Amino acid sequence: MKFKGIAASPGVAIGRAYLISEESYCVIKRAVGSGQVKKEVNRFKKAVGAVDGEFRQQREKVALEMGKTYARLFDAYSLILKDPLFYKDTIKIISEEQVNVEYALQTVIDRITKTFSILDDEYMRDRIRDVQDVGNRVMRVLLGHEHVSMLDIQRRVVLVAHALHPSDTVEMKKENVIGFVTDVGGKTSHVVIMAESLEIPAVVGLKRITRHVSPGDLLIIDGDTGFVHVNPDPDTVRSYRKKKRRQEARKKELVKLRDRPSVMRCGTGIELTVNIESSREVSAVREYGAAGVGLYRTEYLYINRKELPVEEEIYENMKKVADECYPHNAVIRTVDLGADKMSEQLGIKPEGTPFMGMRGIRLCLAYPGLFKTQLRAILRASVKKNVSIMYPMITGIKELRAANHILREVCEELDNGGIEYDRDIKTGVMIETPAAVMDIEGISAAADFLSIGTNDLIQYTLAVDRVSDSVSHLYNPSDLAILRMIEKAINGASRAGKPIGMCGEMASERLYTELLIGMGLRSFSMSGIAVPAIKHLIINTGLEKCRQLAERVMGASDTEEVMDILKENRETRNF
Ligand code: PEP
Ligand code: MG
Repeated sequence: MKFKGIAASPGVAIGRAYLISEESYCVIKRAVGSGQVKKEVNRFKKAVGAVDGEFRQQREKVALEMGKTYARLFDAYSLILKDPLFYKDTIKIISEEQVNVEYALQTVIDRITKTFSILDDEYMRDRIRDVQDVGNRVMRVLLGHEHVSMLDIQRRVVLVAHALHPSDTVEMKKENVIGFVTDVGGKTSHVVIMAESLEIPAVVGLKRITRHVSPGDLLIIDGDTGFVHVNPDPDTVRSYRKKKRRQEARKKELVKLRDRPSVMRCGTGIELTVNIESSREVSAVREYGAAGVGLYRTEYLYINRKELPVEEEIYENMKKVADECYPHNAVIRTVDLGADKMSEQLGIKPEGTPFMGMRGIRLCLAYPGLFKTQLRAILRASVKKNVSIMYPMITGIKELRAANHILREVCEELDNGGIEYDRDIKTGVMIETPAAVMDIEGISAAADFLSIGTNDLIQYTLAVDRVSDSVSHLYNPSDLAILRMIEKAINGASRAGKPIGMCGEMASERLYTELLIGMGLRSFSMSGIAVPAIKHLIINTGLEKCRQLAERVMGASDTEEVMDILKENRETRNF
């Protein structure tokens, strides 16, 4: 059997299926006498205590294996255990209805699921999954079932699950979890971002894969095309083994390029930098021979934790990135909270369309205390002069001026306190909204550099939710509307004499590299793993060829023609 889902994390994995079953408990309502109520409440409290203990242990294990940022997910889980909607309400049902704890707990899980699933919002759906995950853990303890931790998996397996939770992903060990497939999910969910950085192939959004796979089935996952084969015939296995061997050999070959400069045959240099999500990942700069960090997404310092980080913690984190990157530059993006990355501590009420709501720079300008704390920390980490600041989600010059105004205030405070920082620090702007493209001249005049964020630019230009699997077929970087946006941004920045790069996912796709160079782009930022293949392409191509390609593509009459030209170009490449 063959299934097609969303290609989420690249590479091929061949292995036996390990099913993470959705918990299906048979919970029976049992009346307990008034004398039994206390006993049931105590059973609940004991189970909650046991699960809290499990979370603490997992937190420590994950902190050791993956770092503190990921480990903080377990703080959020502990918070759910204590949340009155979860904790007090379960006790209330036991006491008032005089029923068994399992029934009371199931009622609470169902109630929370029902209340929040009315909101058609990916972020809230993730939170519901968290509550279900926590609730199921408590139920397991009550029913005497064991918890399957990803850290306990001792064989090399392919995980098959309806949904994976961030707490599962952070526990995954690359040695044992060789790939995963899920029924639900979109390409830019947290789970997928982590899988990519762990280099675990994954296909998501397969709808009903869990119904078609049994434990021990042989699976082939193709994270490049989104195909999943269940119990394939020997010929298919052979051809995928070949593909996998080819990929591994190619990877080894490409690693040799690490110390080669990223320069085209004609002598034109192209800057390749990495995108990172946590300070630990800064090692990718050296590992993949990149020219620094082109985008540090700092949100992971803020989400899934009890309190907002204090200046000292942010400073240590930024300093680690700056120091390990040195002498290369690190572009630190100010926190892009909101939408699918919300910090609970801010108490922002759920929004109907969160991607259009309180997000990115808007949120920072509305919470100047939070913004200033981060700016202070970034500035303090800039003493070696290898740090730049970048603002996310700018929609116009007014926001840019407001952000720069706050930055100047923070600089003055540091001056008054005699605290050192880089007085010539560069400030850049993410070009990721159509409004920013339309005023590229104004923004370029007021910024030191620009970086095109195609992940959001595509979603806002084409009105396609970037995390929804139902409209993912419409999310197309080759769309002429997108290419014209990019062309306008590059030309506007060039006229103003300001450097412009790209840090959205499109920058890591070989299909577009030559086109983008031909359009005038000279700087690309991407996940570390993508760097060697892009560098290989750059070394083997030339500016004239790229320009001719760009001319043909931009002269196309529709998106279909664009895609035909790009595919033809890919097929005629012999590297
Ligand atoms: C983008 O929008 O392209 C981008 C790089 O930012 P993020 O994916 O973090 O929204
Ligand atoms: Mg973005």
